[in-house]
Amino acid sequence: MINNYWGMAKRLVQLLVAQGISNQRVLDIIESTPRHQFMPESLAHQAYENTALPIGKGQTISQPLMVATMTQLLLQHDCQKVLEIGTGSGYQTAVLAQLVERVFSVERIAALQYQAKRRLKQLDLHNVAMRHGDGWEGWSSKAPFDGIIVTAAAARVPEALLQQLADGGVMILPVGEQQQSLYVVRRFGDNFEQQRIGDVKFVPLVKGTLL
Ligand code: SAH
Repeated sequence: MINNYWGMAKRLVQLLVAQGISNQRVLDIIESTPRHQFMPESLAHQAYENTALPIGKGQTISQPLMVATMTQLLLQHDCQKVLEIGTGSGYQTAVLAQLVERVFSVERIAALQYQAKRRLKQLDLHNVAMRHGDGWEGWSSKAPFDGIIVTAAAARVPEALLQQLADGGVMILPVGEQQQSLYVVRRFGDNFEQQRIGDVKFVPLVKGTLL
């Protein structure tokens, strides 16, 4: 049982500031979101450390610094309708849901999606729609999106996601296999501009779905 998470969350935020996160809205939301509720109880004591942690099915809840970095990059642009690929624990989803109008989140493993859905409901976050599906295909019936965040590494930028990005929209995603980099991709009409941010380590964006 975690009963003093505010103090731990405050220290985590101080660490994120020291690592270069400067968007106050992002920092405030990370401070107030109970990350310990997004993982198995046995790991909850580590919830406010800056590390990725296992959430079952061979997947992980992303490192807080990575969640903060990707969210901050996204919010540099006007994003109200956001697609997330890789719901996982639902932690990044919860952070986004408190910062933008509407979040659409796709997860390939139904069991993880089910738990994430329950957690968001517990936190009264109702502006999220979830889909069990293959993120390589995005969510075409809900497109276009102002912003897309991919929380698993694709071997190459998924074509469907480029197509579902609004004109002027922005996508934040890790690309690569052994060697991965975080990219910001922006759409201008039929042109795409990409900027490399730095080296990262994510679980792979796998094709197909699982129960
Ligand atoms: N944002 C999540 C990250 C979870 S790890 C969190 O912080 O908890 C990445 C997630 O992407 C995993 O849950 C994995 O199952 C999912 N994933 C991998 N390939 C996928 C695909 N093709 N479509 C949808 N989700 C996928």
